[in-house]
Amino acid sequence: MKELRKCPFCGGEAKAKTVLNKSKHCNVGFIFEIVCTECGTTYPKQYGIDLKLQEDLSITIVGEDKREEAINDWNNRVSSY
Ligand SMILES: [Zn+2]
Repeated sequence: MKELRKCPFCGGEAKAKTVLNKSKHCNVGFIFEIVCTECGTTYPKQYGIDLKLQEDLSITIVGEDKREEAINDWNNRVSSY
């Protein structure tokens, strides 16, 4: 997986921040956004990921997985940095 680039405004570290935990029973889901840990700049979009603990104990993506899209959005915004 690609890495998030630094914030275009302050050069700070960008991280995923969980906005909502939509887990229930064995399905786990999160809504997250990308936020700069220094200045708090937040990309104006929210993303989702859905996971499940399988019977063989592996963890797999069962629904949407917007991590890549979130990284691309953030990095494209700051491509000049
Ligand atoms: Zn920043």
